[in-house]
Amino acid sequence: MRATTLLRKLLALKQTRVTGFEFTDFGIEVDIAPTTRVPYCSACSLRARHVYDHRPRTWRHLDCAGMEVTLRYRQRRVDCRHCLEVHAELVPWAESTSRFTRDFEDQAAYFAQVMDRTTVSKTLRVAWRTIGRIVERVVARLGPADRLNGLEHIGIDELSYRRHHEYITTVVDHVGSRVVWAGAGKSAATVDGFFKELGPKRAENLKTVTIDMSGAFIDAVERGAPQAQIVFDRFHVQRMAQDAVDKVRREQVQLLAGSDDAKALKKTRWALLKNPWNLTDVEGDKLAEVQRTNRPLYRAYLLKETLAEIFNRRQVNVAREKFIEWCGWAARSRLAPFKKLARTIRRHLEGILAFIATGLSNGKIEGLNGKIRTITRRAYGFHSARSLISFIFLCCTGLVLHPVFKTP
Ligand SMILES: [Zn+2]
Repeated sequence: MRATTLLRKLLALKQTRVTGFEFTDFGIEVDIAPTTRVPYCSACSLRARHVYDHRPRTWRHLDCAGMEVTLRYRQRRVDCRHCLEVHAELVPWAESTSRFTRDFEDQAAYFAQVMDRTTVSKTLRVAWRTIGRIVERVVARLGPADRLNGLEHIGIDELSYRRHHEYITTVVDHVGSRVVWAGAGKSAATVDGFFKELGPKRAENLKTVTIDMSGAFIDAVERGAPQAQIVFDRFHVQRMAQDAVDKVRREQVQLLAGSDDAKALKKTRWALLKNPWNLTDVEGDKLAEVQRTNRPLYRAYLLKETLAEIFNRRQVNVAREKFIEWCGWAARSRLAPFKKLARTIRRHLEGILAFIATGLSNGKIEGLNGKIRTITRRAYGFHSARSLISFIFLCCTGLVLHPVFKTP
């Protein structure tokens, strides 16, 4: 058997012939060429008879016997009569913009799905940022094309990355527990982008949309899917109540500045924010102390706890009554942060009650949010939101990849 035949069998690249090889300091460089005599244009995939010029190029392929394999080819550029432009010819072993073969990219994407960042980079001897771009191409090539089909219950959530300076917005399918869309930013325009891609026909099928109470998201959902029920989850509302308690506490500390009471209040933060059944003995004592010495702050605490209890109600009508009562109490509480919260709850009551009715929430999609956050941390070092989004698609859309395995 000739050495070139052996190499052709080893590489197992479709529609590719091997014309020569050379050993280098790093491994082996193999000369290859497409088996088709007439080139195809990489822009329109049509035959293009007119060869404009040749450009020597190399592609990294999977290692062989622990050696680096580089493929070499004098790639033709064609003067395409369909595109009316000069384009590189289509090569069967790689995407037109990539310096890696498809096999290499598939392997890299599989590794990126299952291994940590350092191991991927080290095993493949490729910079992490490059892996990011490889993943973008693999997701575009192998990801499901119909991610946005058949959606009825979705959640829209924002996520910060790059040390919280930048944001992306993700859309998840509550039914399939998978990410179906992601875009850079967290504005109404970002969400508009999702609805534009979804299109009015598919948007009509949306029944519920869970979101945080951000004005931008509400506006965008009301524009994009006016028939859908907006759902605000309890965790978001309860977090706002916790923030209100903390604001009252800080106001009280300032009011009593310098006194022993102020010093004592400074240490009550966790006792006030925790669920009562999770309190340690010391925290319980602190809370009792607040009850004795600081009425406004204790009132804030009770407001927060009562609100949490209403969320445990199962009947929407009962919950509605209780929320309205609560809002009245909060409005009369003489605590500015709670007066404000009461106004917010009144304004968004239907969406809050929809949570009681449906139980849907962004925080509830088991495992998915944690997974997205882990990916965001791993993706640190990526230059663009695009790479991060591809990683989320790689790991959270149900895309199944396998290590490359070939037979001669
Ligand atoms: Zn063309």
